[in-house]
Amino acid sequence: MALGLIILGRQGSGKGTQALRIAERFGVVHISTGDMLRAAVAEGTELGRQAKAIMDAGDLVPDEIIIGIVEERLQKEDVRAQGFLLDGFPRTVGQAEALAGFAGDGLHLAINLDVAVEEVTSRMLARGRADDTVEAIERRLHLYETETAPLLAWFAERGILAVVDGLGTEAGVFERLRQAIEGVQQ
Ligand code: ADP
Repeated sequence: MALGLIILGRQGSGKGTQALRIAERFGVVHISTGDMLRAAVAEGTELGRQAKAIMDAGDLVPDEIIIGIVEERLQKEDVRAQGFLLDGFPRTVGQAEALAGFAGDGLHLAINLDVAVEEVTSRMLARGRADDTVEAIERRLHLYETETAPLLAWFAERGILAVVDGLGTEAGVFERLRQAIEGVQQ
């Protein structure tokens, strides 16, 4: 069975790092919408041109744009053969509903990598990235609470939500993620 996984978590939760480890361990294709959009910006495509200002402002790219990109990506042969791990998508209930429409039975688990707001804020301030000002961090975390947190209830209602504690060492957190994913493989 090709696994269909989703990883959710606040910015600064360690989601990106753990996504790479999960993809390596389980052989699924890691699909990061943030990476795809940044690549489009770097290549200067039409999509990149549209997305750049939105991303710079810390806002969300419109659902109809991002949904089309993900739907197309999920149809590729590598994903069909190996399964997928979505990272950064869905971010709104509208995106989740679209995903349920085209991935349907292929969705097995949505993992919330859980780290409290206070902890992610101090982690982001400590890494000192140029776009990690206090204001930008607050805006992104606020968007997460209003747009993305409702997804947790949405996945829980469908019986596919796993909450994994994101505090601890990288290896320790991965161990918990591994167990949660192996649970659905049995
Ligand atoms: P971060 O975890 O720092 O928010 P990502 O790399 O996941 O970053 O995404 C970077 C930016 O790309 C987001 O701030 C947003 O503008 C855009 N983006 C990525 N995924 C989505 C999505 N599913 N829906 C709308 N916008 C998205």
